[in-house]
Amino acid sequence: MSAHDFDIAVVGGGMVGAALALGAAHAGFRVALLERAEPPLEWPPGSHDLRVSALTRASQRILQNLGAWEAMAAAGVTPYERMQVWEARGLGEIRFDAADIGEPDLGHIVENRVVVAALWQALRREDGVEILLQREIEAIDREAEGAALQLAGGETLRAALLAGADGARSRLRELAGIGLTARDYDQHALVATVRAERGNQATAWQRFMPEGPLALLPLGRDRFSIVWTSGPARAAELQALPAEDFDCELTLASERCCGRLALEGDRALFPLRLQHATAYVQPGLALLGDAAHVIHPLAGQGVNLGLLDAGVLIDTLAEARRRGEPLGALGVLRRYERARKGHNLAVQMAMDAFKHLFCNRNPALHLLRNLGLGLADRVPPLRRGFERVALGEGIELPRLARMPSDCPEGAD
Ligand SMILES: Cc1cc2nc3c(=O)[nH]c(=O)nc-3n(C[C@H](O)[C@H](O)[C@H](O)COP(=O)(O)OP(=O)(O)OC[C@H]3O[C@@H](n4cnc5c(N)ncnc54)[C@H](O)[C@@H]3O)c2cc1C
Repeated sequence: MSAHDFDIAVVGGGMVGAALALGAAHAGFRVALLERAEPPLEWPPGSHDLRVSALTRASQRILQNLGAWEAMAAAGVTPYERMQVWEARGLGEIRFDAADIGEPDLGHIVENRVVVAALWQALRREDGVEILLQREIEAIDREAEGAALQLAGGETLRAALLAGADGARSRLRELAGIGLTARDYDQHALVATVRAERGNQATAWQRFMPEGPLALLPLGRDRFSIVWTSGPARAAELQALPAEDFDCELTLASERCCGRLALEGDRALFPLRLQHATAYVQPGLALLGDAAHVIHPLAGQGVNLGLLDAGVLIDTLAEARRRGEPLGALGVLRRYERARKGHNLAVQMAMDAFKHLFCNRNPALHLLRNLGLGLADRVPPLRRGFERVALGEGIELPRLARMPSDCPEGAD
């Protein structure tokens, strides 16, 4: 019997934790995955998940390399070829087109349940992952070169590394005593699925208004998943409006870019918050995904960053194993933290700056926004820079996010 039951115990089987568990098992690690309940693997036809994600090319490759993309494509992913961002009550506008950079699309819009179900189907086929449901974590203990989870009912689970992918309210982070830098945005995001009279034109639309942006993310040919950000009172008012009145408000807010928009199903609200863990790692423990960082959803980057965390953590652990280093050693885990924290912080700060620049009635900032959008639209290198960011490029990618041909055999 080895000192540890597992190499890695992943807490949280959302998009990020499930990707980590699967990728780590593919890399030859013995993995335990703890999740509250198995997510639904199928659902009634015609139903919608209100939570969707805009996935970058880097995330697409991660999901392809994990063997999840095929099932996702069968369940429904929507490539978007263009993106149009414009300023309410102004002339500032910028358009991105995948054709300009020789790409088939700028990314994909996918319901979160589709991503999670595809990862869980793959997990269920994977011998290297033991799935433990409905375990309550009572405490964590540090042990020589590892850590233990004390579970309700007296069970103990030992692993060289505990990986916290348990979301914004991470229990693991709390038990480890890792603090947060956090700030409420005093904004709520209203999410819903709507049908567009003139179809979605394979375009992601974003209109900036002083109260917050309205994002229309294409689903299929004629639907959008909307993320409509505004102050809490206005968001509650929009949620409570009768459907027909809501349709009118939404159609007006979209400036009829795709004709009349009509609600299909429920509306849900998400309070928005900026959050960053003061540390990603401790001996025997690492945080990733929303457990480590929560950012404003205006550019749809949250889960994309989390999937990169997972890829980099796997690379770091594979390298440690090759060097004969303990997986939970602080020196090893600091390499992961150094590789990810700066990038996550930079994206978080950029989203924060965008939020303050665009959700603002200050006339000087209004002028700056219009000039900035106009300039970025007319200067091709600037526009291409934005397009590359949308694709998730411009940073050193983990092995899992690279094309198979970019990963020479045996390279870590
Ligand atoms: C309105 C909105 C729109 C967004 N749009 C985008 C977008 O377009 N693109 C994008 O990249 N990001 C987007 N995001 C952000 C994205 O949704 C999150 O970054 C992402 O869901 C985080 O994934 P995660 O796996 O880290 O955490 P979560 O999705 O929160 O998953 C955590 C998992 O841990 C489990 N768990 C929690 N505690 C325990 C425990 N004690 N034991 C066992 N299991 C536990 C939970 O059940 C859950 O399954 C958006 C966010 C919002 C609010």
